[in-house]
Amino acid sequence: MTKYVAAIDQGTTSTRCMIFSHAGEVVAVDQREHKQIFPKAGWVEHDPKEVWENTRAVAAGALAKADLHASDIAAVGITNQRETAVVWDRETGEPVYNAIVWQDTRTDRIATDLGNLGGGQERYRAKTGLPLATYFSGPKIRWILDNVDGARAKAEAGKLLFGNMDTWVLWNMTGGVDGGVHVTDPTNASRTLLMDLSTLSWDADIASEMGVPLSMLPEIRSSSEEYGKVRERGALAGVPIAGILGDQQAATFGQACLSPGEAKNTYGTGNFVLLNTGTDQVMSENGLLTTVCYKIGTQAPVYALEGSIAVTGSLVQWIRDNLGMINSAAEIEEHARTVEDNGGCYFVPAFSGLFAPYWRSDARGAIVGLTRFVNKGHLARAVLEATAFQTREVIDAMNADSGVPLTALKVDGGMVGNELLMQFQADILGVPVIRPVVAETTALGAAYAAGLAVGFWESEDDIRKNWAKDKEWTPAMADDAREKTFGQWKKAVTRTFDWVE
Ligand code: ADP
Repeated sequence: MTKYVAAIDQGTTSTRCMIFSHAGEVVAVDQREHKQIFPKAGWVEHDPKEVWENTRAVAAGALAKADLHASDIAAVGITNQRETAVVWDRETGEPVYNAIVWQDTRTDRIATDLGNLGGGQERYRAKTGLPLATYFSGPKIRWILDNVDGARAKAEAGKLLFGNMDTWVLWNMTGGVDGGVHVTDPTNASRTLLMDLSTLSWDADIASEMGVPLSMLPEIRSSSEEYGKVRERGALAGVPIAGILGDQQAATFGQACLSPGEAKNTYGTGNFVLLNTGTDQVMSENGLLTTVCYKIGTQAPVYALEGSIAVTGSLVQWIRDNLGMINSAAEIEEHARTVEDNGGCYFVPAFSGLFAPYWRSDARGAIVGLTRFVNKGHLARAVLEATAFQTREVIDAMNADSGVPLTALKVDGGMVGNELLMQFQADILGVPVIRPVVAETTALGAAYAAGLAVGFWESEDDIRKNWAKDKEWTPAMADDAREKTFGQWKKAVTRTFDWVE
């Protein structure tokens, strides 16, 4: 009997392979970072071939660490940074351009021009659940076809394929030019601006308006079913690939937010709050997205409301890499603990414009409230508080949209090891913040999707049973102090507007 399930987690900064037991415990992890390519201000790219090489390497690495073989693995699931777009040649397998990453703002003009056809940012909201913004894949495909020599003609001749990272990795794992399977799942497809949320199929009208030939688009299957097997090379040879979930939906699944009203917040490069709304598509009036949460086999799709924040953990990276103020991300907490509060300093990291709930591509970052009093410790605090304030803004929007105030927040991701941030988050929300034992919920969610498809786990009840609390932070800030500092944050946000024409 096979005892384990593997997950490939193709993230923004790195690719991981994790092996899980039936109890949902981590048995082995291998991880590799890939290059972040910044060719111009506002542009962010990844090399798809490097990402694929890393995927193969970490799969081999994780199995070797646990002394396991492909025959010990019941299934593999894929989870991925969403919206990051790759276009490649179906005959050679060569990408025609680097992957354009979700944070990239180069499609600003394309998004504005489409909005000017009528409806502005809301043009595709009713069908796709999304505002027209640089964040999503559709405009990125358009940019590649418009800007890479010969790409549009090849695309129209049916020679190019598009995929988000899930599709790129899956196509390669299943053989690439030699019979690679070209599919995606509805959670990833729902981030392209090209999928109809109700039918879970590509919308021909929007694709045509966006200038994206339908022949490039992967087939949309469910999030949990067998798509194919890993081809006879590499460590996982022969293992069925049976789950695909975009990273944030995977974390929601891994956190066992399986009933309407349950929500989680993942603190990684950016922050993403997802609220399970069951089979209802709740259209936001407060700057949130409506997205597919998961679709298990032939069951009805489950939807979510999402608050996406572009820059949270990556602000800590910026302090480390661009300012050299700290040597490791964890060190930010030591600096923040040298002071009592932020000293009046607020840091709004609108590096990629502002996502939810503002959706302003004209915004750029600002540090406000500076005086001679402010020191390194205050700045470190302002950096951490930025994550908590941005989260409060999307939770406020979620409470307004759903009409049901959140009573507790489940958290996960790289930043939740930061105790000062977690306490401040509970303080600023006024509700408890709860961290599970397995904080690797993204990979776990993908493993669950794959394991459910092959019968390794029987039902969603197994997932609920595996979830366990590690730590809970309770709010300790007075109401007036909370509202005063949050008010100042909101004022600071307005200082970032109208910066880019
Ligand atoms: P992703 O999956 O988006 O690549 P992770 O969930 O691995 O990201 O989280 C990594 C992010 O968390 C990085 O941006 C890093 O700066 C931040 N981070 C990691 N540890 C800490 C910490 N102790 N305090 C603050 N930020 C942290």
